[in-house]
Amino acid sequence: MFKRRQRLKTNDSWAQPYPKGGPSFRIIGFKDGISLVYFDVKTFADIIIAEYCLREIVQREQTLKNKIRIIQKIGTPEDLKKQAEQNKQAREILRRYSEAEYKLYGAEVRLPIGTVHKEYHSLRQSSTWYLRQELVDDCAKRGGCCSRNCGCCQTRHEQAVRNKGLGHCTPSCGCCASERGFEYSAKETQSFVNDLKARLYSDSPAYTVQMVEAFFLLPSVDKGLFRTIRKLRVKKKKKTTMKETQPSVQMILCVGAMLLAAGGPPSLSVYTSCP
Ligand SMILES: [Zn+2]
Ligand SMILES: [Zn+2]
Ligand SMILES: [Zn+2]
Repeated sequence: MFKRRQRLKTNDSWAQPYPKGGPSFRIIGFKDGISLVYFDVKTFADIIIAEYCLREIVQREQTLKNKIRIIQKIGTPEDLKKQAEQNKQAREILRRYSEAEYKLYGAEVRLPIGTVHKEYHSLRQSSTWYLRQELVDDCAKRGGCCSRNCGCCQTRHEQAVRNKGLGHCTPSCGCCASERGFEYSAKETQSFVNDLKARLYSDSPAYTVQMVEAFFLLPSVDKGLFRTIRKLRVKKKKKTTMKETQPSVQMILCVGAMLLAAGGPPSLSVYTSCP
């Protein structure tokens, strides 16, 4: 059964092989109104992984640009000699970006048309979509910038030069590399992608469900919470209206003093009609 506000569901057959052998399968059910729509987890995993790869390239590019900028400003003649190599790396990154962008596009077009498709694209209309609590927590747990006070992830969307590949830290984040004191090799970076893939296809669906919710669905609206807020607003409004119509003690004293000075109160209606 779905809990209140829960929109994704896996069943007992998660990661179980078919009865007569064959590959195990992982299916996520999405509650769309009163019907349940089933998705092969691959549909989601391919997009999450493609987006991660694009993000890794964007952060690698940013780190390299920062290095080139520093070398141009304060680099030694020896450093300047490395510039040709860095320019070659920059060209390679451009090629990889283009490939990764196309791969993401290929994964996105396989997302079936429907509510999930609509919410996925609506979510990305905001450049800060990735700052959802689940993704911030995930970045912090992985030791990314969200685990420190540098604020890189919070401002990344303001400094982005590309409209894709926005998100939390990958092994290529320059700030994380300075924090740990070394950079990962290409082989090590690839091992992080493999690790993400293993987590998404894990025998336990908890991480996958959490990531699918954060990457694909708009934040769910708690109708109960909305009702409570509306009630509180109505109560507050009533209180304010009563306050406005009832003269305060200071106002009565003030008007009383004015009337005494003018020779006494003429009638009660003068009191109540005071602003
Ligand atoms: Zn940082
Ligand atoms: Zn970072
Ligand atoms: Zn982060």
